[in-house]
Amino acid sequence: MAKLGLLLFGVALMGCQDSTSKKLGINDLYRFLQDAVLQGLREEGANPKPIGSILESPDPHFILKCHICNGVRWGLVKYVEQSNDPKWSPSGSGFPKAIEEGLASSNRKTRLAALQDLVDRYVTRGFERSSMTEGEKKQMRELLQEAKKVGMEIKKAGDYKDFGDSCPSCSGATKSAK
Ligand SMILES: [Zn+2]
Repeated sequence: MAKLGLLLFGVALMGCQDSTSKKLGINDLYRFLQDAVLQGLREEGANPKPIGSILESPDPHFILKCHICNGVRWGLVKYVEQSNDPKWSPSGSGFPKAIEEGLASSNRKTRLAALQDLVDRYVTRGFERSSMTEGEKKQMRELLQEAKKVGMEIKKAGDYKDFGDSCPSCSGATKSAK
């Protein structure tokens, strides 16, 4: 599966270069997702508690070999880690109540929907504030689409066949990527 992933990434990167854009790869995708999620949560001073409880049981919420899920998860983990610092106090413009309550829901579907909204919100914002060139943004959107395809393949197999119809991180990260 890792080989398939790399192959798809290789294909995704062909034919989308311009002179000012650097060639983006899987590490850029991880960095982009992690930073987008972490910065978004910090800006809005999200309550780390429901995020922490989702991270405590990752299997129902993330496809653990999926690149997008992992990038998102790292951003969430970093945020919760930072919030554990005794000097940390939440500040920010306010995390949407609907997402906070959704993440804390006892209903898995509600939690997944909230996670998807969170990822969509911060990936959209991540693109808006990014210093990437237009060519790089295009590559990043294509990388996300390819990573989603790989994530969906992983979801169909083995441990994840009962995961559900979609992956919240993959769907959220590609929702605005048109
Ligand atoms: Zn995923």
